[in-house]
Amino acid sequence: MDLYEYQAKTLFDAHEVPVTAGEVCVTPDAAHEVARKIGGPVVVKAQVKTGGRGKAGGVKLADTPDDAQARATDILGMDIKGHTVHRVLVTEATDIAEEYYVSFLLDRANRAFLAMASVEGGVEIEEVAATRPEALALVRVDAIDGVDAAKARDIVDQAGFPANIRDEVTNVLVRLWDVLVKEDATLVEVNPLVLTADGRVLALDGKVTLDDNAHYRHASHADLVDREGTDPIELRAKELDLNYVKLDGEVGVVGNGAGLVMSTLDVVAYAGEQFGGIRPANFLDIGGGASAEIMANGLDIVLNDPDVYAVFVNVFGGITACDAVADGIVQAVEMLAARGEPITKPIVCRIDGNNAEEGRRILTDFNHPLVEMVQTMDDAARRVAELAAAGRDGSAS
Ligand code: GDP
Ligand code: MN
Repeated sequence: MDLYEYQAKTLFDAHEVPVTAGEVCVTPDAAHEVARKIGGPVVVKAQVKTGGRGKAGGVKLADTPDDAQARATDILGMDIKGHTVHRVLVTEATDIAEEYYVSFLLDRANRAFLAMASVEGGVEIEEVAATRPEALALVRVDAIDGVDAAKARDIVDQAGFPANIRDEVTNVLVRLWDVLVKEDATLVEVNPLVLTADGRVLALDGKVTLDDNAHYRHASHADLVDREGTDPIELRAKELDLNYVKLDGEVGVVGNGAGLVMSTLDVVAYAGEQFGGIRPANFLDIGGGASAEIMANGLDIVLNDPDVYAVFVNVFGGITACDAVADGIVQAVEMLAARGEPITKPIVCRIDGNNAEEGRRILTDFNHPLVEMVQTMDDAARRVAELAAAGRDGSAS
C-alpha cells in the first residue's frame, strides 16, 4: 500500500525524521485555519499518490492565510496524472538552500535492500539515474545488518554529501531505516531532502510503501487505508479476507487457486472475443479449502458488482473435493436468498477433479434456473461469455 505524503510524514515524525509542521485539509477554509495557526508562509501541496505534483502545479507557496485558502481552492479538485485531488497538505514553508535525494527500497532480485542517495535531488531521480548515473550512489544494504551509523556514513560518503552536514544526513538515514524496519515498509523515499538556509536538514517530501503482508502486526496501519482511492468492491473483499482484484469486464470470476483463476481470466477473454469483446470483471481466488461460507462471500462480492452480467465459477477439487465445493455453491445460493439477496445473474459452473461426478450430481439435483453446469473450461468460458453478452446487450436496449 502506497501512502500519501502527509501519511508518510506522520510516520517520519514518529521515528524522528525531521519534517515541517503541517496538517492535511479537505476544504479551503481548513487551509486558511491551518495557515493562520502556522502563522507564516506556508506551502499548499496536493495529496495524490503520484510524483511530479510540483511540475503539475500542485505545490504552491502562500504568504498569508487568505493566500493559502486561494491556493487550496485552486488545487482541490485538480486532476494530476489522472488522480483527483481531494486533500491538500498545508505545511510551514522552508527556505531551501540545497535539495538532495535519499531512499531505501527492497531489492528483490538481490535479496537485499538498496540505499540510493544523491546530492542532486528535487528533480525526478529516474532522470538523474538516466543522464548522470555517477551522481546517484547505489549501496547494497544487508537485511540483517541493516543501517547503523557506520553504514549510513558510508552511504553519505558515496553520495558525496558535503562534510558540514555529514552527521545530520547520517542521522536522517539511520532514522529512515528505522521507519522502513519498524513500519514494515518496502520503500521509503525522500525527494527532496533539503538543507535549509539556516543549516537544518529536513524531509520536505515523503513516499512510503507499506508491505501489506505485514499489516497484521500494525493495527494502526488500518487507519492509513485510503477509502476513497480504493475500489469499493475491493475494500469489501478485503474486509472479507478475499483475494480480489477488480478488472473492467463483464464476467464475474470465482475460482480456487491463483493459477486456475489466472487461466480462467485468459479463457474468458479469449472466448469473449466472439461476443463483442466480453472480458473478465475481476480476479477472485477463494483458496484451496473454501467453505460454503467463503463461496457465499465470493459469489456475493462478484454478483454485487454492477458491471457483472454473468458469473463463472471454476473450481478444481483437490483437498476440498468437488462434492464439498458443489455443496458450497448450493449453500451459497441458498444463503444469499436467505439474506434477502436472491441471485439474479446466471452462474456457469465448471467443476472438475477429486469427486467431480458427485459434485456435478449435486448441482444437477439442485436444478436452479440460473445455475448451469458445463463440463470443460473452454465450453464454460464460451457459455458464460454468451450469457454476459446477452445480459449486457439486453440491459443496453
Ligand atoms: P513532487 O513534485 O510531487 O515531488 O512534490 P515535492 O513535495 O517534492 O515538491 C516539489 C518541489 O517544490 C520541491 O522539489 C521544491 O523545490 C518545492 N518545494 C516544496 N516545498 C517547498 C518549500 O517549503 N519551500 C520552497 N521554497 N520550495 C518548496
Ligand atoms: Mn518530491
